[in-house]
Amino acid sequence: MSVRKLALITGSTSGIGLAIAEVFARNGLEVILHGLESIQEGEAIAQRFDTEFGHRPHYFQTDISQPEAIERLMERINEEVGAPTVVVNNAGIQFTSPVQDFPPQTWDKIIAINLSAAFHTSRLALPAMIDQGWGRIINISSVHGLVASVNKAAYCAAKHGLVGFTRVTALENAAKGITANCICPGWTDTPLLVDQLKEFAEQNNTSFEEAKRGLINAKAPYPEFVAPAEIGELALFLCSDAAKAITGTALPIDGGWTAH
Ligand code: NAD
Repeated sequence: MSVRKLALITGSTSGIGLAIAEVFARNGLEVILHGLESIQEGEAIAQRFDTEFGHRPHYFQTDISQPEAIERLMERINEEVGAPTVVVNNAGIQFTSPVQDFPPQTWDKIIAINLSAAFHTSRLALPAMIDQGWGRIINISSVHGLVASVNKAAYCAAKHGLVGFTRVTALENAAKGITANCICPGWTDTPLLVDQLKEFAEQNNTSFEEAKRGLINAKAPYPEFVAPAEIGELALFLCSDAAKAITGTALPIDGGWTAH
């Protein structure tokens, strides 16, 4: 049976999500772009995809911090493009602070975007995947879904939660042709790290470039950032037939960070 591989990648205007969308499009999957950026910015990316990959994706601009907004987003996608058979829950934000100073509203926002949004897209996408007998849910967790770091209470809680949520989704759907997995990246060179790099540079009185080296050395034995495209290639493999028995996992791509 041939299945339409139609992939929604949340947060695909930047960083890891954009790289996953590029790898998917280059390899013949249909992609749906999503993010916070303006329609104009999203359409510019879609136009570039058309030129580079011969596939012009739809772009949806939606803040996914509210369940109702995600419901409207999924309705529009179903009406305008079709039911996604691959959902990559990638959109995420970061904020660092000790627990006692962590702003409660920021905690709520991180849990909403980094964890609850994956529940909402999954619950809304699963019925069509079950009907088709094929589906892939790929949740972009983090090394911080497996281990902790100081000052990242909400991020670690959300990313650990995502690993647990993914395991349940995998168990419930393992006999239905649907897999659910987490990818757990270590330091990856994207705009998400800019604030942490600035803070590291200030605290250690170093340049932005030296801060990059410092962050890597602090955690991972492999001396380079993970490239966003490498995460795209792993996500692509999870969409393949060869990966149909890989489900319920949390796969680190972290330069050995979690081997400690
Ligand atoms: P990024 O800042 O480059 O991109 C984030 C994307 O999420 C953007 O497309 C943005 O529009 C979207 N987004 C943010 N808030 C949103 C909201 N409220 N509603 C809708 N979209 C929203 O970040 P990145 O580094 O590419 O991170 C992508 C994912 O990878 C995140 O879940 C992050 O936690 C995870 N991750 C990143 C790293 C890293 O080192 N960069 C490491 C491990 C995990």
